[in-house]
Amino acid sequence: MKYYFIFLLSLLTSLTFGQPDWSKVQIKEHKINDHMYMLEGSGGNILIYLGQEKVLMIDSQFAPLSERIKVKIDQLSGNKEIQYLINTHFHGDHTGGNENFTSSTILAHHNVKERLSKDQFYKAFNQTVEAKPNSYWPDITYSQEMNIYFEGVEIVLLHSPNGHTDGDTRVFFPEENVVHMGDTYFKDRFPYIDLTSGGTINGLIESVKSILLFMDTETSIVPGHGALANKKELESYLKMLKTMRDRVAKKVKKKKSIEEIKESKLDKGYEEWGTGFISSEKFVDTIWTDLTRGKK
Ligand SMILES: [Zn+2]
Repeated sequence: MKYYFIFLLSLLTSLTFGQPDWSKVQIKEHKINDHMYMLEGSGGNILIYLGQEKVLMIDSQFAPLSERIKVKIDQLSGNKEIQYLINTHFHGDHTGGNENFTSSTILAHHNVKERLSKDQFYKAFNQTVEAKPNSYWPDITYSQEMNIYFEGVEIVLLHSPNGHTDGDTRVFFPEENVVHMGDTYFKDRFPYIDLTSGGTINGLIESVKSILLFMDTETSIVPGHGALANKKELESYLKMLKTMRDRVAKKVKKKKSIEEIKESKLDKGYEEWGTGFISSEKFVDTIWTDLTRGKK
């Protein structure tokens, strides 16, 4: 609960440029294997891969935390240089630190560059976030899939179109059996779907379905937000997404208004999932808005 409060605070402050007390945020590591760690601070989960010579990092949280993140990576790696930084998508709680990692090569989907380089309006918050200078942008972009051979180890960047946004990357380490899902996965909570940035409920469902094909019971899964997860937990997230989509779709088919839909307790059995950043009401509203777009 506390974790999601911090996330909400972080997302809102990233939008409003307020000044939270960053000094209270600690960077905690969660070991995945001998050379991979998930870092938790404020904002999206970071994944680091420690190579023999250099380090690869996924997502950068917020700029005021960059020094602390670097200290943690130095401790874990023995002061190795961070060669690559991959962004799973453009949101500020995943890319805010990019400007402080300019000696690393930043990689992301092409739409991350598109969105970081132009003003973005967030309808859900009625806020405009201004375009970022080119020090934030990825140096290299791709459109569907890209392979990196980092010190000989294969790392696959897989785009999923129109899930959480239109520029989501899932990062798969086949030899390590580890996946960073970005915000296509909020563990045990209703996800935020950024409808104004190309996100859709059906795209999100397809995204989870497609990545599950690469997984087995031993796979370690890093969600965008929440604790480290396994395949079974991701499958229950997929089941929740489909169930909630189908429940809303059924009501839409019967031409029910959003007010009637909200009163019909569509989160039955999933009440706990609405205790985070996205409440049950907000999630139902998002699905309804998405499914009725252009039909009203
Ligand atoms: Zn996000």
